[in-house]
Amino acid sequence: MTIQVGSARGKPGQIVYGTFEALPLPTGGSEFFPVIIAQGREAAEPVLWLTANIHGGEYDGIAVIHHLITLELLAHLRGTLVAIPTLSPAGLRTGERSPYYLGGKDPNRLFPGLSSPDADYPNHFAPALEQAYSRLFERISATANYLIDLHDFGIRSIPFAFRDPVFYTSAGDKLVAEKLQQKVGEMLDALGLTVVNEFASARYMELDLHRSVSGAALNRARIPAITIEIGGQKAVNTNYVQAVVIGVRNIMRWAGMLLGPPELLPDIPIIKPGYPVRRTIHPRVPQACIVHHLVQPGDLLAPGDPVARMVDIYGRAIGPDSGLLRTKFEGFVLGLFPGMAFYPNDAIDGLAIRDQNELVVQAPQL
Ligand SMILES: [Zn+2]
Repeated sequence: MTIQVGSARGKPGQIVYGTFEALPLPTGGSEFFPVIIAQGREAAEPVLWLTANIHGGEYDGIAVIHHLITLELLAHLRGTLVAIPTLSPAGLRTGERSPYYLGGKDPNRLFPGLSSPDADYPNHFAPALEQAYSRLFERISATANYLIDLHDFGIRSIPFAFRDPVFYTSAGDKLVAEKLQQKVGEMLDALGLTVVNEFASARYMELDLHRSVSGAALNRARIPAITIEIGGQKAVNTNYVQAVVIGVRNIMRWAGMLLGPPELLPDIPIIKPGYPVRRTIHPRVPQACIVHHLVQPGDLLAPGDPVARMVDIYGRAIGPDSGLLRTKFEGFVLGLFPGMAFYPNDAIDGLAIRDQNELVVQAPQL
């Protein structure tokens, strides 16, 4: 099997570089996704796709790809790595979550999910970037055995991985979905980081997370796929990058792409509270205020624990309870959201809280 993505064509025992044409620019020239294909000397399979930086201000994933794909790795590689260091070159150039030509939309909700808007809305005029992602997704579906999408969370966070729900449509399909979810679990075990379930299925669909890179790979193409949140946005955390490089190599060992026992992860926070957790955005400030955080990423929380103090611009506590903002959940802090000045109902933290939802779920009627 020859793996071709854009102008990059996999060759045994080589790392090749190329471009995948994304969209033409009105001022001439074009936007492209950079493509790296590293192929072992013998078999081209299995194939692991690594994608990064679909959110332009999230840099750690680019560093992971740069540090992972080396001649040393190539010498031991069995199968193929396909890497796209940025899925949003415009977002990377400006450091923004949304590329300037997408009108503020989240690019990580534009992959072909369980339902495609073309089928739902005959008058949907897909933005050029959405069309580019569709074409790239066709290459992912045709070649990938596994996919890892690399992100950053909040302004500071612990490294962790998101586990998405898998949807099924019939009793027979449920068995397939369960097998797929089990593979995802094995990938996450091999990675060794903190694991957080995505939003429960109704909210997951409402937020179009089935159209994220890993959501689409998992639920549309049925490829085992995970999202890794490496650290905080807008900066590179070299320690967490190193941990994720090792974690990805350990996934490759699990997949038979490297030989030998797993490597030890460096000293990073890994939270295993003893019960499954899912992500939530909490707490929210009830009033406009300045926030002083009282917790750090990785801190364990019990219901009623204070997580922040709300003050006015003079530093005086606002509201009852000396301005303390408390959590109502059991769990731990994933990351702090950027900013110090917040408006009513703004959330200040991403938390992982106790989860009782199923990870294999009947597909909603679309
Ligand atoms: Zn992201």
